Amino acid sequence: MSVNQQAHTGPPYGQPQPGYQGYQQPAYGGQSLPGVPQAQYGAYNGPVPGYQQPVPPQGSLRAPPTSGAPPPASGASHPSGHLAYSQFEHGDVQNGIPASTAPMQRPPASQPFLPGSAPTPVSQIPTFQQYGAPPASVQQLRNHMAGMTIGGTAASAPPPAGLGYASVPPVSGSFSATGSGLYTPYSASQGPPLTSVSQGLPLAQPPFPGQTISTQHLPTQVPGFTPPPPSTGVGPSSYPPTTGAPRPPAMPGPPLPGQTVAGPPSSQPNHVSSPPPPSTMAGLHPGPPMSGLHGPPPPTHPPQPGYQMQQNGFLWTDEGSSTKLWRSLSRSTKLWKSSWTTTSTKTLGSRFHSIQVIEDDRNNRGSEPFVTGVRGQVPPLVTTNFLVKDQGNASPRYIRCTSYNIPCTSDMAKQSQVPLAAVIKPLAALPPEETVPYLVDHGESGPVRCNRCKAYMCPFMQFIEGGRRFQCCFCSCVTEVPPHYFQHLDHTGKRVDFYDRPELSLGSYEFLATVDYCKNNKFPSPPAFIFMIDVSYNAVKSGLVRLICEELKSLLDYLPREGNMEESAIRVGFVTYNKVLHFYNVKSSLAQPQMMVVSDVADMFVPLLDGFLVNVNESRTVIASLLDQIPEMFADTRETETVFAPVIQAGLEALKAAECAGKLFIFHTSLPIAEAPGKLKNRDDRKLINTDKEKTLFQPQTSFYNNLAKDCVAQGCCVDLFLFPNQYLDVATLGVVPYQTGGSIFKYAYFQLETDQYRFLNDLRRDVQKEVGFDAVMRVRTSTGIRATDFFGAFYMSNTTDVEMAGLDCDKTITVEFKHDDKLSEDSGALLQCALLYTSCAGQRRLRIHNLSLNCCTQLADLYRNCETDTLINYLAKYAYRGVLSSPVKTVRDALINQCAQILACYRKNCASPSSAGQLILPECMKLLPVYLNCVLKSDVLQPGPEVTTDDRAYVRQLVTSMDVAETNVFFYPRLLPLTKADVDSDSLPAAIRNSEERLSKGDIYLLENGLNIFVWVGINVQQGLIQNLFGVSSFNQISNALSTLPVLENPFSKKVRSIVDMLQGQRSRYMKLIIVKQEDKLEMLFKHFLVEDKSLSGGASYVDFLCHMHKEIRQLLS
Ligand SMILES: [Zn+2]
Repeated sequence: MSVNQQAHTGPPYGQPQPGYQGYQQPAYGGQSLPGVPQAQYGAYNGPVPGYQQPVPPQGSLRAPPTSGAPPPASGASHPSGHLAYSQFEHGDVQNGIPASTAPMQRPPASQPFLPGSAPTPVSQIPTFQQYGAPPASVQQLRNHMAGMTIGGTAASAPPPAGLGYASVPPVSGSFSATGSGLYTPYSASQGPPLTSVSQGLPLAQPPFPGQTISTQHLPTQVPGFTPPPPSTGVGPSSYPPTTGAPRPPAMPGPPLPGQTVAGPPSSQPNHVSSPPPPSTMAGLHPGPPMSGLHGPPPPTHPPQPGYQMQQNGFLWTDEGSSTKLWRSLSRSTKLWKSSWTTTSTKTLGSRFHSIQVIEDDRNNRGSEPFVTGVRGQVPPLVTTNFLVKDQGNASPRYIRCTSYNIPCTSDMAKQSQVPLAAVIKPLAALPPEETVPYLVDHGESGPVRCNRCKAYMCPFMQFIEGGRRFQCCFCSCVTEVPPHYFQHLDHTGKRVDFYDRPELSLGSYEFLATVDYCKNNKFPSPPAFIFMIDVSYNAVKSGLVRLICEELKSLLDYLPREGNMEESAIRVGFVTYNKVLHFYNVKSSLAQPQMMVVSDVADMFVPLLDGFLVNVNESRTVIASLLDQIPEMFADTRETETVFAPVIQAGLEALKAAECAGKLFIFHTSLPIAEAPGKLKNRDDRKLINTDKEKTLFQPQTSFYNNLAKDCVAQGCCVDLFLFPNQYLDVATLGVVPYQTGGSIFKYAYFQLETDQYRFLNDLRRDVQKEVGFDAVMRVRTSTGIRATDFFGAFYMSNTTDVEMAGLDCDKTITVEFKHDDKLSEDSGALLQCALLYTSCAGQRRLRIHNLSLNCCTQLADLYRNCETDTLINYLAKYAYRGVLSSPVKTVRDALINQCAQILACYRKNCASPSSAGQLILPECMKLLPVYLNCVLKSDVLQPGPEVTTDDRAYVRQLVTSMDVAETNVFFYPRLLPLTKADVDSDSLPAAIRNSEERLSKGDIYLLENGLNIFVWVGINVQQGLIQNLFGVSSFNQISNALSTLPVLENPFSKKVRSIVDMLQGQRSRYMKLIIVKQEDKLEMLFKHFLVEDKSLSGGASYVDFLCHMHKEIRQLLS
């Protein structure tokens, strides 16, 4: 072992060392690029006279917690959190504009006003989508714009329904770029590539926006309804079902195949959860959409003044998709309504089922691009594969709303109880066919903004007085157009350069930020990645340490790069730890790496500066040597105890010393019980479940980590945590820092090299390579009348308006709730502008802007026509999952049910036609609300079975909080595909079926995925030929459920199934664990947990029972 071990006891570092202090920003080092006017780089060449801010003292390592903002010029910070209209405030955080508005009015330094031309500067990163230099004529500009949009061919020929955009199978070769060129290929020889983009599938939404109407009528004479006779056993009286039955293990960390499944009695026979009694009206189950049954054209939906009008508008003239459905049910156009009254309870469930809704949306909306030019347009469902054409509103891949038509008044909003929320994914990856946001460089004067509310220039600003001023669409304040930005207006009042400027014509774009937007008024250094590996006994013995080191040798060549930069600007560092920490000097000039041990973990410091964070290429041989030596060095370790908080502190201190943001990748195995700050004790106590103290299981056991997280956010230190537990390790506490810094947690319970390495390596590769921004601050501005009041996600907030994230990657979502503070008007609608200030992976400071315009309504019917259930569920789940931190789980569940009952009762009372109280009437776009809500209520966080561990619940709780709408959709209602029905000659997926055991046939093979796991369920009567083709064995009994991948066999069925699995893997942000389940095998109990329409063993209601329960709740509210 040639590593020199030196015990360091002295103080950390005095002065920043040469290697760090003057770190040159490689791409921007003040050099001008050929052909680019020097002046445009003024902001990078040093202090700009007009913007000069007091330079912080040399030793100052940290900005105030309101990261990303320069100190206000006045020196006083505004308590923005206390102001209702804080987004109107000057000089506060995210926007980083000094209290003085002088910059906005400064004469332009670099862009002379040239009437008729649009001098859009070129930015520094050539490959990042440039908004090109101004073409000479408008025609050229239009051509340019046309080039940015989706070509008609591509748009009209999307992949087959059901296929995700990420058609790159994880085992095939290169990682598909997301359009920005930020990802680099990962060669096949080095292992599977990252799963790619693909969650770009926008979320759900009711059918045609103009056509959403339809009410769903439930039978008036169904047993169990009107009122339900107590004897039916299907009605409300059977809810909730019995509890206390054993239940399969937890969803996120299922036991490894081959391991003993603790919990559900293995003797459990199949079909324990008896399906609802067979319907007497089985023939009435909805079939495929009846495209041939078009009725009269959809109404144009005039405002619905009263009851009578609504009846006309809703029940008789609407011919939306559900009407077609009902017609197909009744098989007679004339009888379609009356037939509803005679269906069974079971048919009731089958009417409001997700598969039909998803299929309808795919068929109706998947073939044409979604063009964002129209205000308040409801996008296709997330399960529909469609392309987006940005014509002035942000793509639904970036923002989805619970409703696209907002009540004008607070009273109306309260009456409906429909939450007004937006699910925002600011850095979402896009399919290759779509254009990543253009980067706009306004030179040293920075983006043009409203003087008062600081909103950024966007398509909704109104230019007045011949173009000399503009009126803010958010606050109505009139602001002078800076001379360099002046442009004439055409006869319609539109600027002549409208199509030439993304910020005038597109919903999403980026601005290059000036130094005003930088911490301490200094442009940031490129970020750093620090890999921190647990080398305690379990980590070494499981082979994990060796695996990580081997992987890093190649993975480090694939760090995120910007544009066509030759190498990543990200520097790397390495730490190993158990009870003490080992730092490594991997300076390029060394022949061998050097180790420095810090055993005093009580006051963590970094024992070296020069040589800790290095460029991968420069230090390649030293790093390779280190990664070879680490597994050997600790091969014989006996140390079982670990520390945790000091590890984060070490990474934080290293980033502080290097004056950069960055990410810590921590690989950790156990509860940190060694003596150190942040030491934890095992406090797991399942007896607390269903008590008032259950909430403590979700809360951290010490506030130490909250304080640490705050420090990390201030520095831009994001933490990604990879956990490999063999027992309880207190995810609720260990997850605090990753959670609050915008990081991720990955958990591999009972990690076994053989079965889990593939999944872990895929996750790690994607995590290291994916697009990420650092030191991010997000603010959502709104037009007068509503404002953002609540936020859900992985972030930290030091005031009430700014969401701070040390790191924000392309998978992370923030859900924002809005409340009224004034009246809205139908004419002007409502506007949202999400501004994200962040540092790119090359150290460039940028602002990403997303704008969205919504309609406003005075009629409840308009609200209920424009809601999106998938987004509602995303919001409700996050709301509930936060609620368990402070309230008993039962209270949270009851509140959810109550809110949804109120939403539906309000519709019933105000929008539906007069009808018997026995009818369950749901708005078309909410007809899946009950089935999805039931899935949320039954989830492991809100209704755990005996086999769900405390760590699993904490883990899932945190995961869901950052999920986008597509992810929550499949997580709560998994996708179930009959593999044996797949067409081996086509690229398409077999049609999904409902998640119920009664849908499974003994002769078929099914696949179920929920974003975390993929199950392959094999019926007991499957033909031997199929078994041979898929598993390579001759009989059912020989199928091993220890398989973690499907064998590679050369036959069409095997190829088809593997391509489906690969495609699904490519669509998800995490690599799903593959689990083979044989019918009547003990693992089947685990599988059945995901058949979410059935009664669950832990007491969760079946869908039909829950629907009856909801109906009863609604009727109580109405009476
Ligand atoms: Zn304004």
